[in-house]
Amino acid sequence: MVQKEDSKIVNSLVRQALTSAKEVMGDNGLNAVLHTSGLERFVGNFPPNNLEPSINASQYAQLNQAIEDFYGRGGKGMLRRIGKASFQYGVREQAALLGVAGVALKLLPEKQRIKFILNAVADALKKSNPDVDAWLDESGERIAYIESTCSVCHSRHSETPICYLYVGSLAEAVQWATGKEYEVIETHCLAKGDEYCRFEVGEVKS
Ligand SMILES: [Zn+2]
Repeated sequence: MVQKEDSKIVNSLVRQALTSAKEVMGDNGLNAVLHTSGLERFVGNFPPNNLEPSINASQYAQLNQAIEDFYGRGGKGMLRRIGKASFQYGVREQAALLGVAGVALKLLPEKQRIKFILNAVADALKKSNPDVDAWLDESGERIAYIESTCSVCHSRHSETPICYLYVGSLAEAVQWATGKEYEVIETHCLAKGDEYCRFEVGEVKS
């Protein structure tokens, strides 16, 4: 397996993740996982909202692992909820960066709306951090979102895909754009040796 270089994550993204985790887990839950993942310096002290480098991708991945471990069987669902909250934070606090300020999608066909928001997420990440490489794959029947620099699973190993936080964010993004709850499935993951993490927009959940 190719060991990815340990890139930096910028302050604003760490702040977004911590604010969302706090919303979902509460102060006690968040503080516990900050301790177990070696990030205790952020207890009651979130980084500022700017694009200065903050933590390493591998530390961000450890935080994800710590949350999964902390909740046991409920960990995946918890991470998906944090991902959802994280997209909502983006819309609320970073509408300009995300390119969604004042955007009206109502007149567009559903597929165009999904493409619009997934491209917006990829562009916002790339604008925040030049190390990030993310794009859409439209070659198949379903639209897919790909990142080859995913920090959720950086340096982690698993037989199955593990980027639950990412799945939650993308599912929330698609729901924001369409008003419908689509299933998002992670088909490839760096943690299982794939070249990238790939997330497919599946069927509408009934
Ligand atoms: Zn990943």
